[in-house]
Amino acid sequence: MTDTCLFCRIVAGEIPSTKVREDDLVLAIRDIAPQAPTHVLLMPRRHVASLADLTEDDAVLLGRIFAVAADVAREEGIEADGYRIVANHGRAAGQSVDHLHFHLLGGRGLAWPPG
Ligand code: AMP
Repeated sequence: MTDTCLFCRIVAGEIPSTKVREDDLVLAIRDIAPQAPTHVLLMPRRHVASLADLTEDDAVLLGRIFAVAADVAREEGIEADGYRIVANHGRAAGQSVDHLHFHLLGGRGLAWPPG
């Protein structure tokens, strides 16, 4: 845990969040400023700053994140129409919280390419 990291503090329960799913590796919460009817953030409990810090040792973690995302999408009823999972690395891509997270977006049409 990093004391100054917003998402570490959410994982620790120091800052409230709307939890969608939680297990030993992953936390899924609703985004505070949703960009779609379903906007869930999936993050490792452990502090990983960004995509750029992932290694092969994170294979189990990543498998779990994507399995949880697929489950949540099913539960949210967005599987049939379609959804998007996206992660931003760095400022040019729009990363604003330096704790790895994947956005699960659905419930409306999503333009491609993204802006
Ligand atoms: P990114 O810009 O890709 O780093 O995504 C960070 C996301 O975290 C944004 O979509 C924010 O709306 C969201 N966010 C920021 N603070 C909170 C919070 N306290 N609870 C839930 N989501 C948050």
